[in-house]
Amino acid sequence: MAQLKLQLCNICNNLVDLRYRIQDQEAGEWKMGCSDCWQKVSQDNPYYRYGGTWKAKKKN
Ligand SMILES: [Zn+2]
Repeated sequence: MAQLKLQLCNICNNLVDLRYRIQDQEAGEWKMGCSDCWQKVSQDNPYYRYGGTWKAKKKN
């Protein structure tokens, strides 16, 4: 059975298998956040930028 490698959300520290690349400050660091945090960060944030969806890689 293939296992997904769970990764830590940089914002809420939950383990998730799908993270979003999010920038929440002007010229700030990219963070890898879960979908919940992505929604929170993208609201009320003029510096929010979205850098793509990163899925955990499955091992064949
Ligand atoms: Zn999160």
